[in-house]
Amino acid sequence: MLGTNVWRRALGVDRATVIESVEFDEEAESLVIHVRPRRPKKRRCGLCGRQAPGYDQGEGRRNWRALDVGVMACYLQADAPRVDCLEHGVAVAQVPWARHGAGHTRDFDDQVAWLVTHSSKSAVAELMRVSWRSVGSIITRVVADGRAAKDPFDGLVRIGIDEISYRRGHKYLTVVVDHDSGRLVWAAVGRDKATLEGFFDLLGEERSSLIKLVSADAAEWIASVVRERCPNATLCADAFHMVQWATKALDEVRKEIWRTARRIGAPSLIAHLKGCRYALLKNPDRLTNRQQQSLSRVASVNKTLYRAYLLKEQFRLIFQLRGTQAIQALDDWCSWARRCRIPAFVDLYHRIVRHRVSIVATLTNNGLSNALVESTNTKLRLLTRMAYGFKSTDNLIALCLLDRGGYCPPLPGRQLTKATHG
Ligand SMILES: [Zn+2]
Repeated sequence: MLGTNVWRRALGVDRATVIESVEFDEEAESLVIHVRPRRPKKRRCGLCGRQAPGYDQGEGRRNWRALDVGVMACYLQADAPRVDCLEHGVAVAQVPWARHGAGHTRDFDDQVAWLVTHSSKSAVAELMRVSWRSVGSIITRVVADGRAAKDPFDGLVRIGIDEISYRRGHKYLTVVVDHDSGRLVWAAVGRDKATLEGFFDLLGEERSSLIKLVSADAAEWIASVVRERCPNATLCADAFHMVQWATKALDEVRKEIWRTARRIGAPSLIAHLKGCRYALLKNPDRLTNRQQQSLSRVASVNKTLYRAYLLKEQFRLIFQLRGTQAIQALDDWCSWARRCRIPAFVDLYHRIVRHRVSIVATLTNNGLSNALVESTNTKLRLLTRMAYGFKSTDNLIALCLLDRGGYCPPLPGRQLTKATHG
């Protein structure tokens, strides 16, 4: 018979947990480990961890699902008495092996959270034998734990604010990233002043005054909240969103020409324009051979569309420059766009002029990572799809923070073995 020390190691619990006995449940083909906290007299509130007098025995003994032992499912079984907390009233007492309110052990939670950021949705659910809905609650607990352990807003100086659409564009998340750590620090449902004010309420007046720089798309609701709440911050226009404006303008030009060609019945023009969309919208360095050919066809059959393409590309290149060179390029682009006689780009010109101050701030501030905003934006979009099937938007936000906020826990037990295996 193995000693309790080995069992403790195998189950990943520390000395605060006493293993009383190990039982094999033949019917369920699972292991049941009977446990108790080492000091059963000194009960603590499961919510706040403060000592509290006992209240009653709750609903008697209960099970916590633990990590499998070999191929067998495993449960920890213990009493689940309740305490009377000064702050929280009657609550289930804290146990050392699981988070409050969890039906799984801490290690089980952590392994699920790790898997969610490293594998597919179906792999997680099948390997861990949990429903996707439970996965949502598990990662929400893990992230809440991580955020309680360390102030997520510590040292924020330069932040980016963005909005992510989900549910086919019917719903939005407002998100805040830290330009210096590269992490997602906050997210909430909604995209309006009240939503963003929620972030600055949490941040508080003092820390808000330490914010030096805020990058965002040019939405007025963001600008007005930032002006009000961050007295010392410069507002910068996100290069990523600016370039998206130009890409949209180009796509409008393409659609208009396509519609006209269809209306007047110009089969050769239609044939030439067919399939050019991606060639036009993609960055030139990522084009395939076929797309390059498609682009040169555009150049020969439609001058307006090709000029619109060049305007978009020129605009994109502004943001790869810095300082006076970049500002010069911006001004050159503006004088070209103003006279280009392509309505979508004349409109864009006016829009750019309106936001010139924040664009210039972007071009003159070093280290503002456009790649960060872009990759966060792309990844969060994927995560909102992955979150489909979760119970609530809290679960969706937890998934975003888990993956992009640095809250993914290490695999259970690995920190110990790392030291011995190097
Ligand atoms: Zn409490």
